[in-house]
Order: sequence, then structure tokens, then C-alpha cells
Amino acid sequence: MKEQKIIHKQLIKNMFFNMVLFTIIFSAFSLLIFAQLNRYLYVPVDQEIKKSKSDYLKYVEVDSKDDEVILNFDKVNNPRITCIIRDEDGNVVNATSFGKNLQAYIKEINFSKKNLDQIYEVSVNSNYFYRGTCFEVELPDDEKVYVELLVNINSEKEMIDNFAKTLSVGTGIVILLSIFVSYGLAVKAMRPIVRNYKKQSEFIQNVSHELRTPLTIIHAKQEMLLQSPNSKIIDKSEDIALTLNETRRLSKMIKELMELARNDQEKIKLNKEKTDINSLIEETVLPYCDMAKLQKKEIKLKLECKKEIKVDRNRLKQLIIILLDNALKYTEENDSIEVESYNKDDKCFINVRDTGIGISDEGLKRVFERFYREDKARSRETGGTGLGLPIAYTIVSLHGGSIKMGHNKPKGTVVAVRI
Ligand code: ADP
Repeated sequence: MKEQKIIHKQLIKNMFFNMVLFTIIFSAFSLLIFAQLNRYLYVPVDQEIKKSKSDYLKYVEVDSKDDEVILNFDKVNNPRITCIIRDEDGNVVNATSFGKNLQAYIKEINFSKKNLDQIYEVSVNSNYFYRGTCFEVELPDDEKVYVELLVNINSEKEMIDNFAKTLSVGTGIVILLSIFVSYGLAVKAMRPIVRNYKKQSEFIQNVSHELRTPLTIIHAKQEMLLQSPNSKIIDKSEDIALTLNETRRLSKMIKELMELARNDQEKIKLNKEKTDINSLIEETVLPYCDMAKLQKKEIKLKLECKKEIKVDRNRLKQLIIILLDNALKYTEENDSIEVESYNKDDKCFINVRDTGIGISDEGLKRVFERFYREDKARSRETGGTGLGLPIAYTIVSLHGGSIKMGHNKPKGTVVAVRI
């Protein structure tokens, strides 16, 4: 329950972190786009204003006869520009050149000499927006007029407003979506951790269970021996043998556990060398032939691997011994075991086939799990620990190969290794 709580808490933390991250990234991105749009949308308008200013200045003409300044602005032909000329007091002097409606609006435009020669924005009744500039034109007799050039930017403003609206709706949707995405990502990120966590606690439970059983047997037998101190060893040989058997199994299990732990922790360095797989199999299997004969079983070899393959010899021997040992453990009298090898391109295939008791479909899926044993009682009798095949799996994986177990036809089991 406590584990569930920790996992749940971590999941929420991860989800929250992802969500904040998504929101920050998207908001920063939106703000950046918005700022860029705001900046670049007015660039052509400002250029137009500046260009118009220089155009207008060209048409400030001085009549040579009367020495009079003529504002010949009618020659400037830009329908987008509204040109307002004011006297020194800010009164519009060219109002008559506008239509009646426009005249009313123009009156509403605030005039300030502070903005001279700068680009600024003005609005009329908060409905019409202009961007423009104002400059001074000197007239004879120390008189001055102020020429204000304005460009309507309602369409640009509208575009920015719409964009801002779309962006805020988009940001809202993205934040909402990011809740789901963050949850999905957090679950995905937690999955291997949860799996490992469960595996680890399952493993610890298995280890303690597996160690406790032989220890209980040894303890019980030793106590029984103590209860009859005058008995002869020969009378208690069965109990002693059982104790010895369990101790042997215990030390085998601890050795195998240590090997698996080492494989888990470090990157094992393989001592690979080009190897004639056939002779390696032969020299590994040979000592088992006599044992098989004693058990009235037959070991056959069908060695056809024609290529030398780069493998760690000791590890491969260990693999073959695990498979052969299993084949001998799970076969009965008159059964046979065949070790076969062949190659396809650069890959070597080793099959260990037996006509033994076979294995269930469920067992086939789980044999490479640590401590999995189909028949615990039988496995105990034969000294099985359920760690042989996981070690075999690690050896094959370290070689970059694959290992599978399947049903042998018509009876028994086959383990197929590809290296
Ligand atoms: P064990 O030490 O118990 O043999 P393994 O990891 O080598 O552990 O094997 C796991 C289980 O797979 C065994 O307990 C057995 O049930 C099954 N198994 C392995 N090899 C064979 C085989 N050749 N035939 C039938 N079952 C097998």
C-alpha cells in the first residue's frame, strides 16, 4: 500500500512537472511569435511613413517671384496617407481638403509638439487607429506649420487582435491537452520504474522464500539429530544426506544469485575468440554421456556448424551445461537428448532437444524468469533452483543472440539458441 502511495505521488509530481514545462514552452513560444508579429507588422507601415515624409518634403516649394513657400502637397499621390497641416497653435489649416466625416474625426486627433519627427500611434474615439509622424515646415516671416502624416492601421490592429485571441484560445487548449499528455508521459516514464520496483520486491520475496525452505529443512534435521545423540551415523545417514543435499543446493543457489547480480550490475566483459562450436560442444557434452548411459538415456550429437564463431568459450560451455543438465533432469529412462549445431551466414544455431516430460505452454512463457520452476517438488529433488535458464538467457544476451524454448515433436522440449 505504501509502495502504491509513493508511486502515485511520484506520478503526480512527474505529471505536474511535465505540465508546467509544456505550459512554459508553449507560452514562451506564443509570446515570441506575438512579439515578432507586433514588431514586423508595422515595419512596412513605418517605411511608408518615412518615405512619404521625404516625398512631402520635396514638395515644399519656394516661389522665386514672391519668395513665398508653397506646400504643393497635391502632387504627392498616396491614397493611404492622410496629411494634416496645422498652424503653430495646432489648428488644422487644410480641413477643407477632407470630406465632412473625416473633418470631424480629424478634430479628435490630439496634437503634441513633443512627438515631432518621431513615429507614434494615435487613436480616434478608440475606434480608428493611426500610425504617423509630424514634422515642422518653416514659412517666411518666421512662421511655421506642422505637417502630420497618418496611416490607418485598423486592419493591422485587427490582425494582431485576432492573432492574440487565437493564441490565447490555442494556449488554453494546449494547456488542457498538456494535462492529458503530461499524464500519459508520466505514466509511460513511470512504467519501467514500477516494473523494476515490482520485480525487485518480487525477487526479494522469492530469494527469502527460496533460502528459508532449505534452511528450515537443515534446521529441523539437525534438531532431530541432536535429540538422539547416541545414534550411529549409519542410522541417520538419510537425514545427513538430505541436509548435505540442501546445503549443496543452497550454495549453488547463492553462487547463481551472485552471478546474476553481477550480470545485472556491471557490463560484463566477454572474452570472445574465434571458436569451433562443434568441438566446443563435443568436449562439453562428452563427460555427460556416461552419466546419461547410467540413467539409461542416450545423448546424440548432430554437429554441422561449418563456421568458426566469435564467442566467450567459458560462457558458452556454461550455457551448454545448463541446457544439457536440464535435459537430463527432465527426461526419464529410455529418453534421448540431441545436441544439434548448424550455421546460417554468420550466425550459429544450437538446439538441445529432448524427448522428456515436456513443459506446459504457460511454462514456456515463464522459464526465463528467475526462480520459475514448473514442478517445484521435482526440481527440489533434482537440485533445481530456477536460476539456470535466467543465467543462460543472460549469457546469450551478452553475445547479442536469442534463446527460445519450445515443444519438441512428438514429445519433450527443445531449446533453440542463436548466436
Ligand atoms: P532448474 O534449476 O529448476 O532446472 P532452470 O531455470 O534451469 O531451473 O529451469 C526452470 C524450469 O524450466 C525448470 O524448473 C523446469 O520446470 C523447466 N525446464 C527447463 N528445462 C526443461 C526441459 N528440458 N524440459 C522440461 N522442462 C524444463
